[in-house]
Amino acid sequence: YFITFEGGEGAGKTTILHSLEKKLQDLGYDVLSTREPGGIDIAEKIRNIILNPEHTKMDGRTEALLYAAARRQHLVEKVFPALEAGKIILCDRFIDSSLAYQGYARGLGMEEVFAINQFAIQNAIPDLTLFFDIEPKKGLERISANKDRERNRLDLENMQFHYDVYSAYKQLVDRFPDRIQVIHAENTMEKVEQESLEMILGYLTN
Ligand code: C5P
Ligand code: MG
Repeated sequence: YFITFEGGEGAGKTTILHSLEKKLQDLGYDVLSTREPGGIDIAEKIRNIILNPEHTKMDGRTEALLYAAARRQHLVEKVFPALEAGKIILCDRFIDSSLAYQGYARGLGMEEVFAINQFAIQNAIPDLTLFFDIEPKKGLERISANKDRERNRLDLENMQFHYDVYSAYKQLVDRFPDRIQVIHAENTMEKVEQESLEMILGYLTN
């Protein structure tokens, strides 16, 4: 099964993903956790190009194509083989991030960005997607409280950008109600973890 974690900044995706990886392994599931952009050497290198704070003049389409390229390589090298081996893959961000950030918030158009991603992923749509729903302002407050977090180019974006991303995710939830499930990410991490675990177990045991 291919399970993706989506949402804006500071929603808790990465933290929860790692705690769930362990919980699911303790329950006997064969789990692989990974992230986008990145997860393998070539894609991590592309990530460093995209997110470099010095690359302020990067064109939106260039950015979208780089995300799609990183996604392609990550699928081929890591996700497809793991699916083939029957593993459960927990992936921090995937195509919905591109639709929300590049398609909607950057204004490239969700359909256009979907088209280049279709070329990249060849129908590898996730089986289940958890959307970590938190008001952007609250998510960003969590981030600024965390001094250890790596900073990137997105930190330079204004508040409107993050609200646009949020609005795009909500549109995606409405559009793909069977695939995308909402996690109430404003709750305490314990509650968010519990809700996420129940969601995934409910899916796996159905
Ligand atoms: O989730 P993570 O913090 O690793 O993402 C790194 C950065 O890349 C974030 O600032 C995120 O908003 C941005 N990003 C993006 N478009 C994507 C995926 C990630 O702008 N398609
Ligand atoms: Mg994260």
